[in-house]
Amino acid sequence: CAVAALVVRNRMKSLGKWAKVMAILKEFEEQCGTPTAKLRQVADAMTVEMHAGLASEGGSKLKMLISYVDNLPTGDEKGLFYALDLGGTNFRVLRVQLGGHEKHVVKREFQEVSIPPHLMAGSTEALFDYIAGALARFVATEGEDLCLPPGRQRELGFTFSFPVQQLSVASGTLIKWTKGFSIEDTVGQDVVGELSKAMERIGLDMRVAALVNDAVGTLAGGRYNHPDVMAAVILGTGTNAAYVERAHAIPKWHGLLPKSGEMVINMEWGNFRSSHLPLTEYDQGLDAESLNPGEQIFEKIISGMYLGEIVRRVLCRMAEEAAFFGDGVPPKLNIPFILRTPEMSAIHHDTSCDLKVVGAKLKDILEIPNSSLKVRKVIVEICDIVVSRGARLSAAAILGILKKLGRDTITDGEKQKSVVALDGGLFEHYTKFRNCMDSTLQELLGDAYENVSIIHSNDGSGIGAALLAASHSQYLEVEES
Ligand code: BGC
Ligand code: MG
Repeated sequence: CAVAALVVRNRMKSLGKWAKVMAILKEFEEQCGTPTAKLRQVADAMTVEMHAGLASEGGSKLKMLISYVDNLPTGDEKGLFYALDLGGTNFRVLRVQLGGHEKHVVKREFQEVSIPPHLMAGSTEALFDYIAGALARFVATEGEDLCLPPGRQRELGFTFSFPVQQLSVASGTLIKWTKGFSIEDTVGQDVVGELSKAMERIGLDMRVAALVNDAVGTLAGGRYNHPDVMAAVILGTGTNAAYVERAHAIPKWHGLLPKSGEMVINMEWGNFRSSHLPLTEYDQGLDAESLNPGEQIFEKIISGMYLGEIVRRVLCRMAEEAAFFGDGVPPKLNIPFILRTPEMSAIHHDTSCDLKVVGAKLKDILEIPNSSLKVRKVIVEICDIVVSRGARLSAAAILGILKKLGRDTITDGEKQKSVVALDGGLFEHYTKFRNCMDSTLQELLGDAYENVSIIHSNDGSGIGAALLAASHSQYLEVEES
């Protein structure tokens, strides 16, 4: 691969500007290629790693974390519950009144709060104090119409969207940060303990009843609305999946066999890695300069935090080696992460014949005025290559889960539906990503595609966490007896 790149580079020296641009583009496209056969290899590798991760702790790059969620919502959940969703650059606080079987969600209120960037790299205390503060202010707005029986402590489902080694359904230690967070002293700590201490410090009386990953929360929220949901996938700032596994198929689980016979597994598929993944020099550069080199390789070629950054890196090389934007590299283009995925999406979805939106974005974000149509077209093409690779690999990974569960083919006469609940900004807002993922799934599944559906579980993770708080409430047994 390195030799080939060198050969291309030497050959390029003698080419004119546009020939060089096109050579870089073509090389990138080839390196990102995901023909069907390759996707099948990726899916198979995913299935193999799933088995390995379930067999023993540390048995695979796929952690296959045990969630301690062995029962998904039934619809009977009742009462007033809070949820807190921390994962990307925003966090959300939620309040839900659950009305049981007849009424389901009676009332839902939420508030979104952005996290000041300095807190993402500061101290555990500062981050959790900030979160607890926002939660307390939200609790203070609780309406009189909502009914928390007198003398009852408020309960919370905590969606914490990072890899956690669960110790129980309501406790767990942080394995590592991802997605731009890097607070060293949190690693190894029980995040529920940290949140509880912060709540105590400000006098907020609330009990964490469930600690869940967003993929697990989305699975719970999805199942609440749809009985055939068996897996959930997050495609947002980061990426991950969770699914329902038979407890018998988890050799590393030494606890009691759950009554349901099932256990939800948080795959942490963002950390998947395989020699079949199409990686380029741009991905290697991005990884090397990231906060977590060598980690979350799958996430770095798929998820919303990174797609725009890959595009920026390709543009940088075109500017440097082929004078793509005229002499020199436009200074703004040298700023890592300046091209965010929402902007990239706007560029990619531009349907005007002169690519007006692309021109405007180049001017606003990169301070490149008067770009030619030819330049704009190349940029759209780069977005397309990056997004197709991410979307097609996501579809392959979903196929990996279906294979693990034996749901990737139609067995005689069987019409078992497999529903996958999807959430995350990339899935929700990036139409071309979503469409490409869906058509790839069809390409991979063939006839079995009709038994698989993808549903958007809007805010599944927040509601899901509240539901799991309800089913793990400290008052539950009292009520049932
Ligand atoms: C985290 C996962 C999370 C995913 C989506 C990843 O970076 O490791 O725990 O589910 O992002 O939010
Ligand atoms: Mg989220």
